Amino acid sequence: MTLSNLKNRQWLLKKRPVGMVSRENFEWVETEIESIVDGEFLIKNLYLSFDPAQRGWMEDKKSYVPPVKLGEVMRAGSVGQIIESKHPDFQAGDIVQGTFGWQEYAISNGKGIMNASLIPENMPITSPLSIFGITGLTAYFGLLDIGKPQKDDTVLISGAAGATGSIVGQIAKIKGCRVIGSSGGPEKCKWLTEKAGFDAAIDYKSAEMDSVLKELCPEGVNVVFDNVGGEFLNTSLQHLAQNARIVVCGAISGYNNENPEPGPSNYRSLITLRARMEGFIVLDYAKEFPKAIKQLSEWVSEGKIIYQEDIAEGLENAPDALLRLYSGKNIGKQLLKIADKE
Ligand code: NAP
Repeated sequence: MTLSNLKNRQWLLKKRPVGMVSRENFEWVETEIESIVDGEFLIKNLYLSFDPAQRGWMEDKKSYVPPVKLGEVMRAGSVGQIIESKHPDFQAGDIVQGTFGWQEYAISNGKGIMNASLIPENMPITSPLSIFGITGLTAYFGLLDIGKPQKDDTVLISGAAGATGSIVGQIAKIKGCRVIGSSGGPEKCKWLTEKAGFDAAIDYKSAEMDSVLKELCPEGVNVVFDNVGGEFLNTSLQHLAQNARIVVCGAISGYNNENPEPGPSNYRSLITLRARMEGFIVLDYAKEFPKAIKQLSEWVSEGKIIYQEDIAEGLENAPDALLRLYSGKNIGKQLLKIADKE
């Protein structure tokens, strides 16, 4: 097939979300593929990454990255294969990760939220979108740099069976901690204790969190790694140990709210317990990514970390794959397969 015969299929941002994001926020279009110029390459997307932050990128608000513009291809991290290149660092056939968006083909100069980079041949093709990408790195830096876990600490994690939470728990186990995960539903809780090595799991959808934490953590929690905010955060603040660290990684329970929810009323325990609550953005650690990826890959090859990927199929299903995150359908990292590599 010549390049001029190729059609591109894309999802554009059509409407900014108000409340829960839906398919209506996106528009499916077919376009021609333009020719590349010097310094660019044409890439065929193979896998897309889905991240709760994508809901925030759709809003016209100041954040750590600019919003996606209306009419623009929906932004996403992905892995793809280069079809044609006029870029000195990339050749046709290379497997590359970057920010190539919800589309079959992308023309790129390699720049983006994550600049394009080659995927080493020995690395599983999807892993730069999960364990060796933003997900694993968020778990690594959030827990180790902000949470500072010590041996025998009790670590409590929300969104524990999700992409980030499941890795946080396993790193905490490597550091000699006792690890408790909060997750939605019995299947996820079973996976946490039977597969991911957590010491205990709480199904927050059916359990009375306050009394369960009283029972499980009579001495209090040393590190809270919070991915969800809201009710979980407020309740966990009532169960802190002295000098606890609360890692504010995310607050997905409020991402689709029309109005901001009230702040946690239990925050005063930070004073009496000399506790610290701190947010972070993983991209700030970019210079240290290679060191962290090396460590994560050693832990994976030693069998100390397992990682789960939840792979949907078909570009036409991209909005539904995003929605899976907000309804808690995913176990582990939500990805979408678009094509096989050549
Ligand atoms: P994920 O945990 O794989 O998926 C999201 C999970 O959130 C769902 O599976 C669901 O699990 C839970 N959830 C959804 N709606 C909820 C609600 N209303 N209340 C409670 N739980 C809810 O996603 P991820 O990519 O690993 O991201 C996890 C968090 O990390 C997100 O908040 C994200 O924004 C944040 N993050 C932060 C950074 C950073 O630099 N700070 C970087 C990456 C990600 P249940 O079934 O358990 O409800």
